[in-house]
Amino acid sequence: MTEANKQVHKDTVVSVDYTVKLDSGEVVDSSAESRPLEYLHGHKNIIPGLEAALEGMEVGESKHVTVAPADAYGERVEEAMEWFPRNAFPADVELAPGMMFQAHDAQGNVIMLVVREVKDDRVLVDYNHPLAGQTLHFDVTVVDIRPATADEIAHGHVHHAEHH
Ligand code: ZN
Repeated sequence: MTEANKQVHKDTVVSVDYTVKLDSGEVVDSSAESRPLEYLHGHKNIIPGLEAALEGMEVGESKHVTVAPADAYGERVEEAMEWFPRNAFPADVELAPGMMFQAHDAQGNVIMLVVREVKDDRVLVDYNHPLAGQTLHFDVTVVDIRPATADEIAHGHVHHAEHH
C-alpha cells in the first residue's frame, strides 16, 4: 500500500465498524451484528454526511459523527403518503402500522414503503425513507483501507469475492 492509501480518500475501499443511533438513543443499525461495512469511498455508496466525515481518516481511528437529515436520508415530506385499497395488498398478510414493504418505483429502483394506518377497506402508505427526518448519530471505526481496483472504480461499487 502506498503512502496515499493509508488514509480514506476517493477510490479507496474502506471497511468500517459502525453503530448508528437516533436522537432517542435507539440503535437502528450496527455492524456488530454482521461484518464491517465495506464500501467504495467517493462514489456516494453511503450517506453524504458519513462519507464526508470519513474523508482523511486512518486505520484504527474512531469518530463520533452526527449527521443532519439533509445529509442522511432527507427531510420527511408529509405529502409523500397515499391511500391504497386494502385489496391492493395480499389478503393473507396481516397489515399493521410500522410494517415495511419493498416495492419498485417507476424507474425500477427498490424502495421501502411503510404502512402508517390501516382501515377496513384502505391502507395509508408512506413513501418517505424510514429514516427520513432523523438526525443520525454514528460511532465509526476504520478497520481497513485498500486501493480500489480499476473495475471497482469503473462500476462505482466494491467487488466482493461473491460479486459478478
Ligand atoms: Zn460491479
